[in-house]
Parts: sequence; C-alpha cells; structure tokens
Amino acid sequence: MPEYEVVIGLETHIQLNTRSKIFCGCKADSWGEEPNTNICPVCSGLPGTLPVLNKAAVEKAVLLAKAMNSEIREESFFDRKNYFYPDLPKGYQITQFDKSIAFGGYIDLPMDGYVRRITIEKLHLEEDAGKTKHKGGDWMVDFNRCGVPLVEMVTAPDLRTADEAAEYLIRLRQLLKWLNISEANMEKAHLRADANVSIRIKGEDILNTKTEIKNVNSIEAVRTAINVEAKRQIKEVEAGREIKPWTLDWDEDTQTVKKMRSKETEADYRYFKEPDLMRVQLTNEWKEEILADFPKLPLEVRDEFIEKYKLPKYDAEILTSERSLSQYFRDTIDAYGYQPEQVKRVSNWLMNDALRIMKEKSLIAGELKITPEYLFEIINMVENHLINTPTAKSLFEKVEESGRSPKEIVEEEGLAQVSDVRALEELAKKLVEENPEQVKKFRGGKESLIGWFVGQIMRQTQGKADPEIAKKVLLEQLEE
Ligand code: ZN
Ligand code: MN
Repeated sequence: MPEYEVVIGLETHIQLNTRSKIFCGCKADSWGEEPNTNICPVCSGLPGTLPVLNKAAVEKAVLLAKAMNSEIREESFFDRKNYFYPDLPKGYQITQFDKSIAFGGYIDLPMDGYVRRITIEKLHLEEDAGKTKHKGGDWMVDFNRCGVPLVEMVTAPDLRTADEAAEYLIRLRQLLKWLNISEANMEKAHLRADANVSIRIKGEDILNTKTEIKNVNSIEAVRTAINVEAKRQIKEVEAGREIKPWTLDWDEDTQTVKKMRSKETEADYRYFKEPDLMRVQLTNEWKEEILADFPKLPLEVRDEFIEKYKLPKYDAEILTSERSLSQYFRDTIDAYGYQPEQVKRVSNWLMNDALRIMKEKSLIAGELKITPEYLFEIINMVENHLINTPTAKSLFEKVEESGRSPKEIVEEEGLAQVSDVRALEELAKKLVEENPEQVKKFRGGKESLIGWFVGQIMRQTQGKADPEIAKKVLLEQLEE
C-alpha cells in the first residue's frame, strides 16, 4: 500500500464580539435565548428597511487581517449572495465577494520540530443566517442569528495532518481572544470550522477530489473527524472506488461521518454589489487609529519569555495562553527581577496558585484581586524570611478573597514567622528536656529524627517558625 498524505483546508466563520449585529441595533450575541426574540425589521428582512454598517465590526475585521498578515483594502464593498433558504429571510446574504476588506496573508504554526506556514485565501465580512430546527415533525425557523457579524476566513489546502488543523484552530482561538475580536467559544458557535479533506500519494502535488466535513464543534472533534475521513478515503481508493465530492456531517455520538448531500457544482449566486450600502472607505487615518494599540501577538510574546527571560517553553506557552495573564507575569517580574530563578519563581506562583484560583472562579488574570504588586509583596516577605512558604500560600488565598494588602493581613493576623533566634532556642531547649527518649535515639545515630523535632517547633508556633532557623538551633542543642 502506498504512503498517503492528507491535504486539508479549513473554512472558519468567526463571530465578532461587537455589541450589536452588523446591520442593525439588535444584540449580536443571543446564545441560549428564546427563538425570534432578538430580531427587528432589518435583520428579519422586512421590505423597506435599510442596513447600516456597524463600524466596530469593520474595526475588528481589520485587527484580524493585520494579525494574519493580510493586505487590507482601502476600499471594499458588500455584495448580495442570492439563494433561497428558509433561514435567510431576505433571500440573499450580505457578504463580500470580489472586493473584500482584506485578502491574502498567512499564519505560521509552531509544530513539534517544524513550522508550517498556512496561507489565507479569503478574509471577508458578512452577516450570519438564522437557524432551522426540527421539532415534533415540524420545521421551525429562528432568526435570532440573522445579521450576527462574522468574518469568514478560508485557508489554502496547506494543512497536512489532523494535528496541524487542530493547531491552526488552537492558535486562531488564542489570537481572537488576545485581540478581543471574538469570544471564540466553539460550543457557542462563535468559531465554526468546516474541513475540506482529500488524500494523495505522498510526493504527488495534485489536488484530488475533496469532501467537506461540516458541523464539527470542538477542536478535538475536528482532529478526530479529519482522521476518520482520511481513513475512509484511503479505504475507498485502495478498494478501487472513486472519492465523490460529498458534503459530510460529523456525528459526535458515533464518531463517524455521514453523507449530507452530494456537493452541487458551485451554485450561481448571482452576486452583485449591495445597493443599500456604501463602499467601506478605510482612510489612512482610520486605519492608524484602529491599529494604534496593536499588541505583540502571543507567539511573539512566548518567544520573548523564552529568549529574554530564560523561561522554560512549557511555562511560556501557558503564560501566553491568555493576554492578561502574560501582562500579569510581565508586571510581576518588572517589580521583582529578571534573574532566571526570579522569573521561574513568579511563573510557579502563577501556574500553581493563580491558575487554580482563576479556574475555580472562572476569572482571567486581569480580574484577580491579588494584583502583581500584591504577589510581589508576598514573594518579598518570603525572601526576607518574614513569612514561610505555607503561610505565603494561605496568604495568597486570603488576599484574593478580601482584596486587602498582604502586609496588612500579616500584621493583623500575626502571621509573621518566628525567626527570633532566641525565642526558637528557648523552644528547642524545652523540647530537648521533655523528650529524652527521642534525644537518645537521635544521638544514637537516628538523624532523621531532626524532622520530628522541627515539626514539633512548627506545631508549637502554629506553623510560623522559620524552619531553617528552627533546624539550626535544634541541631546545636542536640549535638551538644
Ligand atoms: Zn435586528
Ligand atoms: Mn460564509
């Protein structure tokens, strides 16, 4: 059997997180709401209404285009794509066809040991359609999604494995949130992906007949669906059968693809310029205003954390998974220091303690009550032996609960550790007097008992003794 490779292209629909829809004042996001409660004469296609373009949707599309290294057009148009379907009340979709907001571009995917460059073939703005639902023998239609602002983005068939396709979606989702363009939640259909899949013998450069997999609503499902479909195609070809250009439906329950329909030849949508909207003129001034605060992108920041601050790759990946977390990390090391061990210490606090709380409370780093300044205060107190590590851990939680300064809490609750050598010497002396058996065993060679002695002191000080000093004074007493 020859060695096959999979050729994959992804078509994504990204729901922009604007407040209102793209051509009317209805809310953009009405996930989970009663059908047909978030509509108006414009988005339900009543005659005589006129669309008004949402400026924020254009701005968010420009941000995405910039991040994808696309050419941004100074002048773009909207077009009507005409077709009949019950979820499309106007009988046409307002989209962009030949003069879209942007074109071209690419994204580099960091794979294990290599980088795969994925070319972007299309990037345009459009409105979403509604939804049809089957219920109790009836077909019903919900227009809530009509007019939701979308960017449709299509890649060239540059992806070669299901893992690359998954990585593309992971990086895209990260980018969309980083730039605050979309909530990018696949379960809520903020990010939808269809995969075009074909196979060929490795080394060939032809493009064979492809199938399109639809209705895949998680990244893991995209990965599985592509692998399942590639296997099916190889089996077909090996059996001497032809691949048909089907549209396939991914069935999450059975983990299989099902034929939805034979793909009709490219329909004649009779595109023409939308006469109810003016062209979009993106003046230099406006473009500069949109891009004025364009941030460093996550992969760039990740590499900076690795190279400049010597942070392990694993840490850098996690700390750049979300923009406010990367900013939090930066602010803390700005206050604390850039030595590799300082950087790593901050990273550990964030990866262990901060991330756990963030997960428990569904917060992002920027919403934590424990600010970078407060975290730095805690680290500082540990370094100056003012508190020990277990106290620091519980202090972290107390600060997050109350929003009060760590120093204040330490003072009020008397959490400062006992590092007074004389006080600890007193305790050690008493301990040695009261435990002749243990002392005998220790002096007889059972040195591991030192742990027990230190533990006693920690108990007597309610965990506040400086364990290092406690150990030192104990050894002095025991070795006498
Ligand atoms: Zn509306
Ligand atoms: Mn589309």
